[in-house]
Amino acid sequence: MTSIRANKNIKLSIAGKPSLETEALEKPATVGILPEKIPFIKPRLKIKVGDRVKVGSILFEDKRNPDVKFLSPGGGEVIRIDFGPRRVVKEIVIKLDEDEDFEAFDAIDEKRLESLEKDKVIAALTRGGVWPFIRSLPFRDIADPADTPHRIFVCLGAKEPFLPRPEAYLTGTTGLFNFGIRILQKLAENVEVSVAGEDLLKALTIPAARVFSGDYPVDDPGVQLYHIRKSSAENRSWYLDGQGVLQIARLFKFGAYPIERVVAVGGSHALKRKHLRTRAGIPLSHIVGDKFEDNGGTRFIAGSIFRGYAGSMETFMGFYENSLALISAGNTEEFFGFVRPGYSKPSFSRTFLSAFNTSEFDFDCSCHGEKRPCVNCGSCATVCPVDILPQFTLKCILADEIEEALSHGLLDCAECGLCTYVCPSKINLCNAFRQAKGEYYREME
Ligand code: SF4
Ligand code: SF4
Repeated sequence: MTSIRANKNIKLSIAGKPSLETEALEKPATVGILPEKIPFIKPRLKIKVGDRVKVGSILFEDKRNPDVKFLSPGGGEVIRIDFGPRRVVKEIVIKLDEDEDFEAFDAIDEKRLESLEKDKVIAALTRGGVWPFIRSLPFRDIADPADTPHRIFVCLGAKEPFLPRPEAYLTGTTGLFNFGIRILQKLAENVEVSVAGEDLLKALTIPAARVFSGDYPVDDPGVQLYHIRKSSAENRSWYLDGQGVLQIARLFKFGAYPIERVVAVGGSHALKRKHLRTRAGIPLSHIVGDKFEDNGGTRFIAGSIFRGYAGSMETFMGFYENSLALISAGNTEEFFGFVRPGYSKPSFSRTFLSAFNTSEFDFDCSCHGEKRPCVNCGSCATVCPVDILPQFTLKCILADEIEEALSHGLLDCAECGLCTYVCPSKINLCNAFRQAKGEYYREME
């Protein structure tokens, strides 16, 4: 096992981290799936409103690659399909039966797996709806089943404070996780588990190839690849997280589409800050409970606070999202804010008295003012974990000089959001890079 220290990272002192306590959540009345939030796919629907589905029935497939299928996270009736502009499928909602039916898949045990050819393993993973858990760098699209990657990363870590902790979802499931790794070894020679943090490594009884020390975003596969890459062939490495490995193993072991999820709930506005044992596609309202009153002052963020999406209580957890953060929307005026010393305001540039405050900060979503120009402070370059010069890369994108942006390392961007976070002008650099990468990806198709 090798140890690598990443030198550019930030300890995020954000208040409201979920505890390791885990509670089982009761069954909701509905579940949903949000095709719009799954990057780069073009959904072709296989159901219509009023259809009856089982857990594991096909809801839609990706037109670009029909082998990639998305299955129903619940058994019952399709009661709603919402479309956005240009008929983009936004949301599919299923009302659950009391006794849900499950589609049956072929259960494959360890002994049978040994003699199974790679193409049979791929067919089982795609038909069983778990293939989309495997994604490919640098665009973070779903891996192409026809490719063989140089490496598959399994990244264990939760350096962003509201993400589910591997200690929570791997407790009691280590055997299942190891089975999942053996399944992945059928797809590539190099399957490497990397753990973010010595303390996490000690807490898990899992053989790891690498331990990365440092803070956010050292647990990101793109950042890890940046530190170990030796050739450009590695740029399209595949990756998945620990819960993805468990879903793959569950499909093979139990012969049913796996809907179990461990969801972390945190943030200073959350009433319960803990891990919840629940299921895929859970409504946000079911997670926060009926005691919570949404008066517009709270932002609900599904997924990481730097990479997830803000949604209303009426929406659902996305396919890849396993955390929910409730933080202040920051839409209230601060009385005489301009004369306050800012003891409780986080500041990367140590502008406020908070530089002397070592406690955790209550974050909000306020940009503290109007749109402002770049002041060339260089903070974004100081924190970028993959050594991009974000301010120059952004200028190239704005000037439509994509080749120039690529030469600055645009494709290495891990979409971690640190540049946006530290920017005093609150320029959304990360979003601009994500969009530019997306446009380049579509041009290449
Ligand atoms: S450019 Fe910004 S979002 Fe991209 S890796 Fe660097 S800090 Fe993260
Ligand atoms: S952090 Fe913001 S203001 Fe500073 S150089 Fe980067 S883009 Fe410009």
